[in-house]
Amino acid sequence: MPRLSNRIENFTDSVIRRMTRIANTCGAVNLSQGFPDFDPPVELKKALEKVAVGSIHQYAVTWGAKNFREALAKKQSRFMGIPIDPDTQIVVTCGSTEAMMAAMMTVCNPGDKVVVFSPFYENYAADAILSGAEPIYVPLRPPEFNFDIKELEEAFELRPKALILCNPANPTGKVFTLEELQVIARLVEKYDAFVITDEVYEHIVYEPYKHIYFASLPGMFDRTISCSSLSKTYSITGWRLGYLIAPAHIVDGARKVHDFLTVGAAAPLQEAAVVALNFEDNYYQELKDMYTEKRDFFIKGLDRLGLKYTVPQGAYYVMVDISEFGAKSDLEFCEWLAQEVGVAAVPGSSFFKEDVNHLIRFHFAKKKETLEEALKRLGNLREKAKEKW
Ligand code: GLN
Repeated sequence: MPRLSNRIENFTDSVIRRMTRIANTCGAVNLSQGFPDFDPPVELKKALEKVAVGSIHQYAVTWGAKNFREALAKKQSRFMGIPIDPDTQIVVTCGSTEAMMAAMMTVCNPGDKVVVFSPFYENYAADAILSGAEPIYVPLRPPEFNFDIKELEEAFELRPKALILCNPANPTGKVFTLEELQVIARLVEKYDAFVITDEVYEHIVYEPYKHIYFASLPGMFDRTISCSSLSKTYSITGWRLGYLIAPAHIVDGARKVHDFLTVGAAAPLQEAAVVALNFEDNYYQELKDMYTEKRDFFIKGLDRLGLKYTVPQGAYYVMVDISEFGAKSDLEFCEWLAQEVGVAAVPGSSFFKEDVNHLIRFHFAKKKETLEEALKRLGNLREKAKEKW
């Protein structure tokens, strides 16, 4: 038989999504892959019902249906504080996963370098491999997950084509400060690089932290490809509606990549989602309040259990320190946790370039009763761990 490509031998399937499969086989409460177990807003479900019996069932324009782009441009202009042209500066994609991949393929030639903060959302390494780029990792050191300016500048001295910025960050829950973003802006200008953002948690930020869109910094719109999606903001991860926003000449390139990767995002879902893009500001306040309540409930539970963690400033993940249990690896710990304790988490090592084995990631985008059940099960953790290690 002929051999398969070298490309696919250089990365594994997603550990996050693998943990979901493990959780399903052993009946664990799934706090691994981040997605809600509650419904999206009722207006969205009603809109979808109406679309289903209507006439929009064929392809939309490849870079996104006009009414969807117009509603998105209006909403993002409002939050980002920048005018966005729906006709020339947006590509609607199948989730931000495709937006990031299209962005990478648009700016990188094989062999180009890309700066990635570590820990990082695991897609970025695969995106780099698939587009032929080579990641340069810059550590965000636990427990605070700050970067060292000198280390970042050393990465830029290697002349990367782009930096990937996940803000608010998955898996750390870090929200980059204005000062940190200004450091990045100074470096991308000095070394003439692009920034590709992943801002899918843009509306899930806890007080007193504030999300600052990188593209909104002076002079940065021209070199930024802002990627995001409707998945987390409207609790519709399965709809796969994402987008990228960039200056027109970058969008022209990204449209071509997108056209041949997927042709387009689902037309009926774009039509239904216009309703959500038109929500007023109070929707985003309520979303933030809901997640603040979930975060506080979950971390109080971790406090009661005496577990050590880093308080998330944004997104819906929390990194917990498992050093005290003496497991051989975080992977072994997570498999055991799912099977014996009945709670699924993601081993931290799948996010780190460095050899970090003492952290695991839980997410808390779940109904209160689901989080209660998970915390109840975790109540047995110490006792069971003692028997095991
Ligand atoms: N962002 C989610 C996570 O980190 C997963 C998204 C996905 O699986 N596409 O868990």
